[in-house]
Amino acid sequence: MMQQYLALKGQHQDKLVFYRMGDFYELFFDDAIKAARLLDITLTTRGSSAGEPIKMAGIPFHSLEPYLAKLVKLGESVAICEQVGDPASSKGPVERKVMRVITPGTLTDAALLDDKQENRLLAIRMVRGKMGMAWLSLASGDFALMDTDVEKLPSELERLRPAEILISDEAELTLFDQLRTPVRRLSSWQFDGASAERNLTRHFAVHDLAGFGISEPLLALGAAGALLDYVRSTQGGALPALAGLRVESHSQFIELDAATRRNLEITETIRGEAAPTLFSLLDQCATGMGSRLLANWLHHPLRSHSKILERQAAIGTLLDAGQNENLYAQLREIADIERIVSRIALKSARPRDLASLRDSLRVLPDLAAQMPSGGLFDGLAHAMQAEPAIYQNLAAAILPEPGVVIREGGVIADGYSADLDELRAIQNNCGEFLTMLEARERERTGIATLRVEYNRVAGFFIEVTNSYTGQVPDDYRRRQTMKNAERYITPELKQFEEKALSANDRALALEKQLYEGVLDSLQAHLATLRLTAQAVATLDVLVCLAQRSQLSGYIAPEFCDEAVLNIEAGRHPVVEEQIDDFIPNSVDFHLARKLLLITGPNMGGKSTYMRQVALIALLAHVGSYVPATAAKIGRLDRIFTRIGASDDLAGGRSTFMVEMTETANILNNAGEHSLVLMDEVGRGTSTFDGLALAWSIAKALIEKNRCYTLFATHYFELTRLAQDYAQVANVHLDAVEHKDRIVFLHAVQEGPASQSYGVAVASLAGVPKEVVRSAKRKLQELEQSSLHHGLQPDLFAPSLTIEAEPESHPAVEMLDGIIPDAISPREALEMIYKLKELI
Ligand code: ADP
Repeated sequence: MMQQYLALKGQHQDKLVFYRMGDFYELFFDDAIKAARLLDITLTTRGSSAGEPIKMAGIPFHSLEPYLAKLVKLGESVAICEQVGDPASSKGPVERKVMRVITPGTLTDAALLDDKQENRLLAIRMVRGKMGMAWLSLASGDFALMDTDVEKLPSELERLRPAEILISDEAELTLFDQLRTPVRRLSSWQFDGASAERNLTRHFAVHDLAGFGISEPLLALGAAGALLDYVRSTQGGALPALAGLRVESHSQFIELDAATRRNLEITETIRGEAAPTLFSLLDQCATGMGSRLLANWLHHPLRSHSKILERQAAIGTLLDAGQNENLYAQLREIADIERIVSRIALKSARPRDLASLRDSLRVLPDLAAQMPSGGLFDGLAHAMQAEPAIYQNLAAAILPEPGVVIREGGVIADGYSADLDELRAIQNNCGEFLTMLEARERERTGIATLRVEYNRVAGFFIEVTNSYTGQVPDDYRRRQTMKNAERYITPELKQFEEKALSANDRALALEKQLYEGVLDSLQAHLATLRLTAQAVATLDVLVCLAQRSQLSGYIAPEFCDEAVLNIEAGRHPVVEEQIDDFIPNSVDFHLARKLLLITGPNMGGKSTYMRQVALIALLAHVGSYVPATAAKIGRLDRIFTRIGASDDLAGGRSTFMVEMTETANILNNAGEHSLVLMDEVGRGTSTFDGLALAWSIAKALIEKNRCYTLFATHYFELTRLAQDYAQVANVHLDAVEHKDRIVFLHAVQEGPASQSYGVAVASLAGVPKEVVRSAKRKLQELEQSSLHHGLQPDLFAPSLTIEAEPESHPAVEMLDGIIPDAISPREALEMIYKLKELI
């Protein structure tokens, strides 16, 4: 057995091998040690190998799923090895085979998937600064390619959030060093572009890939080849039906770099939590498909105004129609068709998947009828009309509430197959026959307590209590002796038993065969069903966005070709839901006003204001309505943010290094159609360094990048930029001091802030009174000294510091003249009195 195990393990070195033994899956050697640690199961030993006891750990076969889920979450891959031979007839160990390979990026099983998240496998091929990426969501069949620059790797990983990454064994590993995502290295020949192209044309049965928008050789093709190879190896040699092939390019979407996706807290908070985020706020989708599509839309704001306006118009139509609650209720009844379809493609769909698909298809015509018409809806309605034959076939084939697994039967509906009905009739007639037999035998033997029964161990039997065993006829053969009774069988009963039992076996086998037939017949409809799933998901997202607009008073933003970004009375979508009185704020960018310098106290609302502008711009490009009273937006190509102090200690970069790396990215890439958010840049270093950097960065953004910039700063000196550049405007957030306390007004006003409220904020935060008092004194001192030295005209004069030469003072001069060793205690005392006077 160990030889068999080691042979199988040899083919799956990098996976945990679950080896089926009776009612358990066992792991051996290092796998056992690892699994014991990861799964918190007991590590034991058994037998020995090379003189050492063999380490072993196991889990009961019926609780496999939760353990798999845990391992996959930890990024592990598992090979499941089942007994395929018949234990009764085999000599030596039962034949075993690896039946399933489970890796984090190739999941399709409903129990292992998060229904709100896409589970993507990403393959990357890098050649001289360029990279080709191919990614596949096996559970939905979505398959896409893109070529881009290697430097885009972090932002692409943040956008696609793959569950598993495949790279060539030649790729530079350091790029992937810090990732938590499992990275698997494949041989570089698997990334060969030419053979991948051949395989893909064959797979899609096309002459060339031009129809998919691939006219020139893409690096990504090589990645696609490696990816499909890998998927095939995990799916027992079968390649799943792919939904098609998309080629993406950066120019379709508003680009968001990795930091921006994090900073804007689109689907994850900066701390890595799922809520509160833009997605958690908006996601009231009725289906998992809808939730996943919404997350996808939020990460892919569109550039094309016409596409955006289509979505926007659809939301408008939904709001006018006022049927959203009904539509939502109907959407709730629709299963995750997208994932079911993928399981059908892989022939791993369970009976209940098909039942859910059938029930969903039944309500779809109603849903389509309920939906408004015109615009996007016409296409959606069309896609929802899956061929009626699919539904009819499922309705005829599958029982209303089928069993969980096909091998236990109870799945195929009556009337679907005459043969199956007949076999089932034999089983059903069983009861009748036994009652009849019992009555007849009682009469024949005169034993009133005689019973005819069945159990799994003994089969069919006639039971007679001990006091009557003398009366049994000659044709009774003893089958089993009990404490108070004997069990017999007769030739007639024996014959019946054979028929009944074999009918049962045959029925199960036939059911399985019929079920496979149903799965086969569905293969021709996968593409149709996928379109249906997509249409449902799209409707779900539109309804969800419409409902949010209504609930929170969003409006439709206007788009134009001029250089403007104008938002009136905008709100931060997430913050406004968390506090009672959110103060709306406007922003007005145009050619003559491109950089806003934002000053004001800490906690004044600077970050909130900046983020809300970015989030509104993002939502507008998703096609959603936005939290404002009016918005007008011109062309936008990218959003950049440099917000907050996020240490990337795991990545080995200090706060300041992170800050400057992100800033470098902005300065190198932002253009005149980009929106840039800069929060407190330069804070991570010494005052002068920071001020000098912030000043130069702001200048570069104005002169060179010419982007729309929101620049929050605590360096008051920067407000002078407005005098030098017409495109720069100062705005500030205000606070008022109210009896020893500070009240933030959260309203953005024109002009620079007039005062620093740092000390007041410190007091509010509970810094001890003495410290606050001393800070106030020090502040006055510093302000006076800078006034005295005329700080403002020369921005970088070192006068900000306290190190300026102190003026001389009579007391100091007197002290200077004292020679301590030459005076008596009494003289010393007198001098102290005098010094006090002088002060
Ligand atoms: P800053 O960046 O100036 O330090 P924040 O933007 O972090 O300030 O805001 C601090 C807090 O003030 C927020 O957590 C929020 O509760 C509140 N706040 C911010 N903006 C507003 C607003 N427009 N209306 C009401 N409360 C706000």
